Amino acid sequence: MKIGTVREIKTREYRVGLTPAAAHEAVAHGHEVLVEAGAGLGAGFDDADYEAVGAKISSNAKAVFEAADMIVKVKEPQADERAMLRKGQILFTYLHLAADEPQARELMQSGATCIAYETVTARDGTLPLLAPMSEVAGRLAPQMGAWTLQKANGGRGVLMGGVPGVPPAKVVVIGGGVVGTHAARVAAGMGADVTVLDRSLPRLRYLDDTFGGMFRTAYSSKAETAELVAGADLVIGAVLIPGAAAPKLVTRDMLKTMKPGAAIVDVAIDQGGCVETSHATTHDDPIYEVDGIVHYCVANMPGAVARTATLALSNATQPFMLALADKGWERACAEDPHLAAGLNVYDGQITYPAVAEALNLPL
Ligand code: NAD
Repeated sequence: MKIGTVREIKTREYRVGLTPAAAHEAVAHGHEVLVEAGAGLGAGFDDADYEAVGAKISSNAKAVFEAADMIVKVKEPQADERAMLRKGQILFTYLHLAADEPQARELMQSGATCIAYETVTARDGTLPLLAPMSEVAGRLAPQMGAWTLQKANGGRGVLMGGVPGVPPAKVVVIGGGVVGTHAARVAAGMGADVTVLDRSLPRLRYLDDTFGGMFRTAYSSKAETAELVAGADLVIGAVLIPGAAAPKLVTRDMLKTMKPGAAIVDVAIDQGGCVETSHATTHDDPIYEVDGIVHYCVANMPGAVARTATLALSNATQPFMLALADKGWERACAEDPHLAAGLNVYDGQITYPAVAEALNLPL
């Protein structure tokens, strides 16, 4: 199969769909890999890295779209890219179609077979192609929180780990899933005093059994949340109710009880945020202040660490990419229901029930 990857053209997207290592695997499996010139630069891979593993460099995206049987990307195709897709071509990337009707309609019109990273499943019911980005955002959250807490950024001027004789920052993580667990581990590793709130008792048990010595757990009731938030130097929002907007667990009233200059990193902002005063920000202008509390609410946090994020995503997508290339999408999906769960559009039709329902389109 001819597998192509192109430079991401969405604003400030520096990741790339195929790393040289993934291209190497594909070539070793007997496939031809086409890479748009400069596609990997944002993630620190130059064209020579791809050529060294046997990939071919194409001068522009059009040439890649024309030649490839499968396009492997990161973000949903932009309008110019959608116009280049063709019937029968496989598109393997994040799509997030439920909230994007224009894209859904154009993908249907293209006739392409579109497999979305975000709906591929794993045996335990988790989402293996979303998890790496939650891991990245979770581990990045204390780093950005530490920066936000610095005086020059409007923060309290508190060092995460304190120093001998001076107490560390108090960090409260709301939601102990993938993001929350990685955030808590890194915050604890920085020496902060960390508490993780969740409303799932099995999850709290798991966290306590696994990380009991590193951080505390607490049940996410309104009263417990209010008390912990009032005492926090840094609050990290990491809740998720699948398929729904994030619940507003930190209200504006609670902000008034917090210490002036305390920081909030609301990672759940891509689902609307779990803090009433959160609104999405960008890497160019990441923070703002409400009632003396500094908010960091970047909706695509992994973009800040494009190289790590690219490598993490590629590790997760590679086995699926190889299965699609080796077997063709029909056999690959027939043999693996978890990959089949990623199929969102085929031959002009939406094939994923939640997307069809959200957009009021026939299945
Ligand atoms: P997850 O499903 O692994 O974890 C969510 C956790 O929230 C679960 O443990 C659940 O029990 C808990 N929860 C639900 N309701 C709660 C409540 N009322 N109180 C306390 N806990 C509650 O999800 P995840 O992968 O950790 O993702 C968390 C959020 O981070 C999602 O909104 C995700 O989209 C977002 N995210 C954002 C970025 C970004 O760049 N901003 C990147 C990756 C993920």
